[in-house]
Amino acid sequence: MRAVAVFPGTREVRLIERPEPPPVKGSQVLLKVLEVGICGTDREIGAFEYGTPPPGSDHLVIGHEALAEVTETGPDVTLVRKGDLVVPTVRRPCPHARCHPCRAERQDFCITGDFRERGIKEAHGFLQEWVVEDEEHLVVVPRKLSDVAVLTEPLTVAAKAAEQAQAVQQRLPWERQRVRALALGAGPVGLLGAMSMVVNHFDTFVYSLESATSERADLVRSLGATYVSGKDVPLGELGQKRGTFDIIYEAVGVSKVAFAALEALGPNGLFIFTGIPAHGRPNPIDTDTLMRNIVLRNQLLLGTVNASRSAYALALRELEQGMFLFPQSLRSLITHRTPIQEAPALITRHSGIKQVVQLTSGRRD
Ligand SMILES: [Zn+2]
Ligand SMILES: [Zn+2]
Repeated sequence: MRAVAVFPGTREVRLIERPEPPPVKGSQVLLKVLEVGICGTDREIGAFEYGTPPPGSDHLVIGHEALAEVTETGPDVTLVRKGDLVVPTVRRPCPHARCHPCRAERQDFCITGDFRERGIKEAHGFLQEWVVEDEEHLVVVPRKLSDVAVLTEPLTVAAKAAEQAQAVQQRLPWERQRVRALALGAGPVGLLGAMSMVVNHFDTFVYSLESATSERADLVRSLGATYVSGKDVPLGELGQKRGTFDIIYEAVGVSKVAFAALEALGPNGLFIFTGIPAHGRPNPIDTDTLMRNIVLRNQLLLGTVNASRSAYALALRELEQGMFLFPQSLRSLITHRTPIQEAPALITRHSGIKQVVQLTSGRRD
């Protein structure tokens, strides 16, 4: 079967042939992979900045944003059935008894760092025609969401942020507020974050560099959010000009931009970091103002990394709401669908919003 793998030793990204998986046993499930989304993490792995092959392997099969169909089930499988559409989760728990989060199936809060991530860290990913997975790592997807369900994994970034926001803002009379929320950045994570905030009934804004008359700005408005262009309002003046925000959801991965946006965080505000910046030169930052504001305004800065099963379940509910409210806009987030043989090239260049690899192999006999 075909797969796409990176070879860090020789710095190659290419299509490879792999043996088909052995028959499933126990609670294992054989999955026919239908679609795999490509994101910045894959491009970083493809640029050899990130990504670790499984122990003993010279390559890593990439792909972590998958939609698949159950084609065979082991004798102990009870949660999924043949023919189900599923999205697999990405992170697998570490083996250490002392890691309470992993032992409680919350490997997104792993404390040892010895977790594995399919397609990213020490475990092959889903950009291959067939995958064996344990049923406990699968989330069943309603058929009616099949054309957008590949967005589930990237949407879990926002879904986990929403869960965390709900949990930490219990510290104040949160429910009674009319929440003003800002997504910083209009890439896939920012747009999906905005959609999540809109379906959570927040008064939602998206701030990005594209002009207010760009297609991207139109897309933001079609998702029910207000677009603010960096060409019209400098980031350092956003709070003064457009009012402060109760939640800022960072989706740019550039620390200088993220910290500049703190000016727009209001009293009792929550700033959620989701991006992972590349290491660069140190940036000067006014730590006195930062600390004064955090204390005097009861502000909270929160980092979040993906994601538990509950975030996947929430992401699917949000997708369903999104498909009810603005189906065409949601579909239009997927700007490219390409066959697997073009995937290695796709990983080294970026265009559009979300690029998806379609795997259209024949039936396995
Ligand atoms: Zn991703
Ligand atoms: Zn752990």
